[in-house]
Amino acid sequence: MIMELLVATHNEHKKEEIQQILGRDFAVKSLADYDLHEEIVEDGDSFRANALIKAKYCFEKTGIPSLGDDSGLVVEALGGRPGIFSARYAGDHDFAKNIAKVLEEMQGEENRKAYFITVLCYYNETGAQYFEGRVYGNLLDDNKGFKGFGYDPIFVPEGLGQTFAEMNPEDKNKISHRKQALDLFLKDIVAKRPQQN
Ligand code: IMP
Repeated sequence: MIMELLVATHNEHKKEEIQQILGRDFAVKSLADYDLHEEIVEDGDSFRANALIKAKYCFEKTGIPSLGDDSGLVVEALGGRPGIFSARYAGDHDFAKNIAKVLEEMQGEENRKAYFITVLCYYNETGAQYFEGRVYGNLLDDNKGFKGFGYDPIFVPEGLGQTFAEMNPEDKNKISHRKQALDLFLKDIVAKRPQQN
């Protein structure tokens, strides 16, 4: 049986990426598919809280099992910033400005450790469940590469010699924080599915 899943996003690209990872047993829908056009106010104080706000909103509006996600970059030497403010650290979704601010704050800092994190919240009639993925790595002191988005040009995943922005999207998506969280979700939901004969 195909399971309908509402993803709390206005971004059709994100919907497609999730559909690809989850496969044909799922019919992934976005907010637009349910005529939900308002911005969901993400005013939680953690990745979890924001993921919950999004998933719960969708479930309460539609009754369809829903997935909310929140991602960001966590930098050790900056006490975890930009963290939940990753998208609007210096300017709203202005990737260049956001990177410039992080690089400025990191000037002269020897500890370059950082990680990307995704927290997923799955919300259905039984309540909320969380799944988390992380990619650990180090920050460069300048941009390198032109692919990807966000902080990709300054982030080198552990054990790899290039930034996320130098990698092909397919290679990044195999190891990304989003992929890891989605894999955990998928494993859990498949395990709980009633067996079909
Ligand atoms: P969102 O929760 O997926 O919208 O991500 C919030 C912000 O975190 C984005 O606007 C980016 O600045 C940053 N971010 C999340 N995932 C990535 C990634 O894979 N690469 C680079 N930046 C990311």
